[in-house]
This record gives sequence, structure tokens and C-alpha cells, in this order.
Amino acid sequence: MLPEVVFVLGAPGAGKGTQCSFIAKEYDFVHLSAGDLLREERQRPGSEYGEMIEEKIRNGQIVPVEVTCSLIHKAMMNSGKSRFLIDGFPRNKDNLEGWERAMSDKTKLLFILFFECSRDLCTERCLGRGAAGSGRSDDNLESLQKRFNTYLHDTMPIIKHYDRKGLVRKINAEVCPEDVFDCVKKVFREAGLEKRIAN
Ligand code: UDP
Ligand code: MG
Repeated sequence: MLPEVVFVLGAPGAGKGTQCSFIAKEYDFVHLSAGDLLREERQRPGSEYGEMIEEKIRNGQIVPVEVTCSLIHKAMMNSGKSRFLIDGFPRNKDNLEGWERAMSDKTKLLFILFFECSRDLCTERCLGRGAAGSGRSDDNLESLQKRFNTYLHDTMPIIKHYDRKGLVRKINAEVCPEDVFDCVKKVFREAGLEKRIAN
């Protein structure tokens, strides 16, 4: 059986990471955050991509897909598991085409979870996260403006592309995390995905 994938998309601060960690706790899915994988690679001593990644992240731009996709692929292989939430990817046409070239016949795409949240609320959350010590070099107003532009110009078209294929499951992410998760659970139930059996 092919490994199964759910892509998780939404504006910066929409709550992708929070919801993915809830999902991974209750369902048999491994949470792979593309942003976290890139931040890890940036920190890896001897990485030839560290500086490029930092510059892209700070400027809200998107890292070339060869780098991101190979980090995701490696993490999938190393997990030994077969169901994945891929959080924050694919974010632009380069990501989408690179994934399709390298991975589409190695995986089965189940659906796209799309967390919808207003720009103001997302900005407030990211600034709050920055002030609370997220340590992220892009949780500041200047980077956030750039991240939002990239989201609107580059990521929204990808979400629309998948929506035309009937793959997008849209969720209101403006309520509290528990209420958002109730909607997520409904999507999973409708997709026939059961909770992990307690042991
Ligand atoms: N990023 C990227 N490719 C990806 C995912 C993330 O280049 O596939 C970079 C991009 O610069 C982005 C940053 O990493 O702005 C942070 O992404 P993350 O998903 O962690 O942020 P979020 O959207 O969850 O706030
Ligand atoms: Mg995130």
C-alpha cells in the first residue's frame, strides 16, 4: 500500500501546527512540518543550505522544492510509518510541481486540510507567539507582511488548484483550538479515518 498524505495549508498563524499536533496524538498520522524540517536543516552543522534557508524564511520567501521535498521524503522514510500530515507544503507552483515529479506516484494524496483565518487574527497570533518567545526570526511585523504576500500570491493558487479537484476540506480556524479540532475530527470521520485504537 502507498503511504497516505494529507497536506495542511492556511495562512501563517492559522493554527496548522497546533491542529497537526492534536491530530497526531489521536490518529495514526505522523506530523511533518515543512517549516520545522527547514529550520532543523538550517541548524544542522555543515548544511550547505543553512544560510539560504535563513534568508528565505526571514523574507517570507519559499525555499526551492528540491531542498524541501528531499527533507520531507527523508523524514517519511525514517519514520517507518505510512500516514503523514504534511504541514505548510506545497506553498507555491515550484513546490507543487516538484512534489508531483518526485512523490506523486510514491504516495496517495487523501485531501487538503485548509485552515481559514483572517489576516488580522493571524498577524495577532504570530506577533503574540513572537512576544512569548517563539524564537522564530520571522514572527515580526516586517517578515509577517512578506509571509502574507507570499501566501496570497503563491499559496492561494495552490489551494484553488486542489479545490478544483474537490480535494480541499475547509475549516474555520477563527475559533478556539478545541472547536477547530472538532471540525477536523468531522473531516477525518467523513474520510473514513478512525482514531488510533487505545492500547
Ligand atoms: N517554508 C518554505 N517551504 C515550505 C515550508 C516553509 O520555504 O514548504 C519557509 C517559508 O519561508 C515560510 C517559513 O518557512 O515562510 C515558515 O514556514 P512555517 O510553515 O513554519 O510557518 P507558518 O506558516 O506555520 O507560520
Ligand atoms: Mg507552522
